[in-house]
Amino acid sequence: MPEKSDRCHVCGREGPLSFEHIPPRSMGNNQGARSYRGVDIIKRAGVFDASAKDGVRFTKMRRGIGVQALCGSCNSYFGTHYVREYTGCMRELGAHFVQHPPADDAPSIHLSGGNVNVLAFFKHAVSNFCSTTPYGTMLDCREFLLDKESNDFPSRYRLYMFAVPDSDSVMITTGWMVLYYANGGSVTLAHVATFPVGFTLVDVDASDFIPPYLGCDITPMASRKWGDCPEFALDLPLMTLDKMLPVPRAGKEGARERNEGGPACA
Ligand SMILES: [Zn+2]
Repeated sequence: MPEKSDRCHVCGREGPLSFEHIPPRSMGNNQGARSYRGVDIIKRAGVFDASAKDGVRFTKMRRGIGVQALCGSCNSYFGTHYVREYTGCMRELGAHFVQHPPADDAPSIHLSGGNVNVLAFFKHAVSNFCSTTPYGTMLDCREFLLDKESNDFPSRYRLYMFAVPDSDSVMITTGWMVLYYANGGSVTLAHVATFPVGFTLVDVDASDFIPPYLGCDITPMASRKWGDCPEFALDLPLMTLDKMLPVPRAGKEGARERNEGGPACA
């Protein structure tokens, strides 16, 4: 049921926006959920730590976690073409983590397969960033997302993926952030993450330093043909979301070596 009138973050049209579940409703995101804002946790606990939620105010989200950023037409196009590929893959990975929890010092998990429409999977992840960044900042993804066969992913973005093995992880959507580094460089990025995976989208044109630990660069998936289910092998670094940002969970040195090796996992 439309409840809010504004501009759709993907097509730019003005009109009622529909409620979009992130993660998808079919992954169990349909119950009452608590949504915390990082700023409220800091005010209460003094630290940016998701395990310090006692007494922090929250919004009770009756229908599950989600946002209102897409018009009904975009939302239903994505639901029809992208969501199923995504949830199939995530369910498998989630079950794997529950049945075979990774060792505490494991830096990454090896994920391989060959039955995923990788372009659909990729587009679902990108659509989540459109929904969780401010209106107008990603309208250049419109053609790419609204024509399922399009490979025209704007070259200013790179998309990274990582694994979140803790099933109690909170949902993190940061919108665009600029991080400054001691070397004088900065990176403009956004995160969307929860159990069992997260993504980091980097705006390369607005960055002059790409830090390690972002995860596997899966941008090449954007060039795959619609319906292609190539054999893939990804070494996904394991991250924790306890600090309200993705942080390597363990084996930092190992993660660093792997990530600096280049696009070994795309
Ligand atoms: Zn729209």
